[in-house]
Amino acid sequence: HLSPRLEAVANYVPEGAYLADIGSDHAYLPAHLLVSRQIKYALAGEVAVGPLANVQSEIIQQNLQGQLIARLANGLDAVQTSDQINAVVIAGMGGLLIRDILDRDWQKNNQRQFPTLVLQPNTEEAAVRSWLIAHQYQVKAEKIIQEGKHFYEIIVAQPGFQELGIFDLQFGPFLRRQAGPVFSAKWSAELQRINLILDRLVVAQKGDSVTYKEWQAQKKKIQEVLR
Ligand code: SAM
Repeated sequence: HLSPRLEAVANYVPEGAYLADIGSDHAYLPAHLLVSRQIKYALAGEVAVGPLANVQSEIIQQNLQGQLIARLANGLDAVQTSDQINAVVIAGMGGLLIRDILDRDWQKNNQRQFPTLVLQPNTEEAAVRSWLIAHQYQVKAEKIIQEGKHFYEIIVAQPGFQELGIFDLQFGPFLRRQAGPVFSAKWSAELQRINLILDRLVVAQKGDSVTYKEWQAQKKKIQEVLR
């Protein structure tokens, strides 16, 4: 049984995939996809020993020996050619970390690409989208979901070429055009947060600082998108 966030990520993993889940922790996502026979093989990569032990106990509990492999490695170092991985999930981390994991692999492994990336940054989604389009990926689908007061964006990418403007990078080319209720809720909340920051800056007599102007510009962008 997956959380709504992981369920939404799982929905974008192609049928029959050879999946690498990088930063897998408990490995709920690949275990669920294997048990329900939606994928053929999964590799759960972990950089830390504690989470790797969680993966190993999930393998035993779900009887997934030979189908779900736990590997201790930094980022995409977990993926070997013989794994025939054709889909990569990196979920539940900051966007900058996701970008760095992708970039490190790109540098190290001669610009290797994967047929499908399913990324779920907790923050800094623009940095993820910028990296993708600068490295011959295109954004093919996006989804935003809400769990309590947290918002999570899912970005699906495949090899290809795409140009994204600054609004697309920040708000997502699909998400901002759909402009659904969860999208509006996320950016309305952000707008409120920025208003508080702006008020505090005024109180601190920093109403004509560079910082104030930057937040104000950000506020205008959000207002434009929400209009
Ligand atoms: N992917 C799961 C999810 O979305 O629920 C678990 C997310 S958990 C918050 C983040 C995991 O990423 C941690 O277990 C951490 O050890 C792992 N991690 C962080 N940096 C990593 C890296 N460079 N390579 C592999 N795993 C990493």
